[in-house]
Amino acid sequence: MADNHAEFIVLGAGPGGYACAFRAADLGREVVLVDPRASLGGVCLNEGCIPSKALLHAAELIRDAQHSDGWGISTGNVSVDIDKLRARKDGIVAQLTAGLSSLAERRNVRIIRGEAAFTGPKTLDIDGDSWTFEQAVIAVGSAPVQLPGWPADNRIWDSSAALELRKVPKRLAIVGGGIIGLEMATVYAALGARVVVIEFMEQIAPGVDFEAVKVLHKALESQGVTIHTRTKVSSVKATKTALTLSCEGMFSGDVKVDAAIQAVGRRASGGIVNADAAGVTTDEKGVIVVDSHCQTNIEGIFAVGDVTGNPMVAHRATYQGHVAAEVASGHAVAFETTLIPSVAYTNPELAWVGLNQGQAKEQDITHEVVGFPWSASGRNLASGSEEGFTKLVYCPNSHRLLGATLVGQNAGELLSECVLAIEMGATLKDIALTVHAHPTLSETIQLATERALGSITDL
Ligand code: NAD
Repeated sequence: MADNHAEFIVLGAGPGGYACAFRAADLGREVVLVDPRASLGGVCLNEGCIPSKALLHAAELIRDAQHSDGWGISTGNVSVDIDKLRARKDGIVAQLTAGLSSLAERRNVRIIRGEAAFTGPKTLDIDGDSWTFEQAVIAVGSAPVQLPGWPADNRIWDSSAALELRKVPKRLAIVGGGIIGLEMATVYAALGARVVVIEFMEQIAPGVDFEAVKVLHKALESQGVTIHTRTKVSSVKATKTALTLSCEGMFSGDVKVDAAIQAVGRRASGGIVNADAAGVTTDEKGVIVVDSHCQTNIEGIFAVGDVTGNPMVAHRATYQGHVAAEVASGHAVAFETTLIPSVAYTNPELAWVGLNQGQAKEQDITHEVVGFPWSASGRNLASGSEEGFTKLVYCPNSHRLLGATLVGQNAGELLSECVLAIEMGATLKDIALTVHAHPTLSETIQLATERALGSITDL
């Protein structure tokens, strides 16, 4: 049927898929976008990045209100109406997903709600309907890893369930101290839960600059979060009154809670679209392997976002989505950067890009490190914080930046200057000689470079 033919079809309407579909439409392609969800935006918009940020902002407000007494601002006891909080979060998601639908409509992108699976290299099944296509993009994302051996129990949540904000449990265990685990610890501790984070590795946020992680670790503890590192859960027992997590390692014993969140990573969803039928290679981790053009091993079939592996972050997916749309439309572009920024929107925020000190050492890369403590930043102190720092890793010969780690309020917003500096090959002098507005936290990046060059007067 002519109706069931697509010139350019995108499977999955998350940040990778919709960005790809919209870019292709802007390049003059006739585009079909398929997703089983009722609303566009994928995990990020519906049950990930955006709802978590709405809750994290609320957590920050709660903490500020609780701690403003010393500044002469008394709010009395802070109470939280969880239904209103949930409604605000859902309202933001609804507003953004409606916005996406209207952007799709204006571009004449045809939306099909359904589950797509390949039946051949140029054919698909969508909920029982046969389709043919000329080019396809797989953007079906990833799903939370589930720990084996846990009982089926509705008090055990993945990140999506945790963000539904069904209730605030009195006692909450979070297994996995990566970005999701730490963001959820920040939210639920502010809402009044007694939170225990159980992390398998030596430190929370494994792989991130250890000094920056120490700052976050201490801050979380001061927010009432208990953290057990080098600890694993060996068994879980569910009774009517509690979940009991038996732990082994640095902490050994039982953790009794009213709910538990599993946040131990995500698995690429390559397996769900029957890619084999099209001849597309999916590895044992569910990852669809692509080249720098986001092209799979089968000509005319592309893949973008989490389904192509780590790092599984929305901004990488969007970037790849644009590349796939452009390559498929005959443009000479490629996804070549390895520079993907990461931000944990905790309190304080933790943000990093490129090489950190530990990695530079491990990889035997010639480097120097310079830091600037935010305790010397007027803006930081004026905003009620004494913690935080900016740390830059640079090449002592070329003076180019190799990486940056920032911890402190708004670190995520500040990171972009460092990403741009690395992408543009900026030297320490370039940054030092760029006038930064005062008083801003961004000055800490300039001041760090001045410190490296020996021209600093602020320390
Ligand atoms: P993650 O890989 O960041 O962290 C998982 C953590 O769980 C790791 O610290 C790991 O050591 C630990 N772990 C694994 N198995 C364990 C076990 N059995 N017991 C205890 N700890 C265990 O994964 P995540 O936090 O689930 O996030 C999933 C993905 O989503 C990541 O790729 C992340 O980058 C992405 N994400 C990004 C953002 C953001 O950019 N702000 C927010 C949320 C999620």
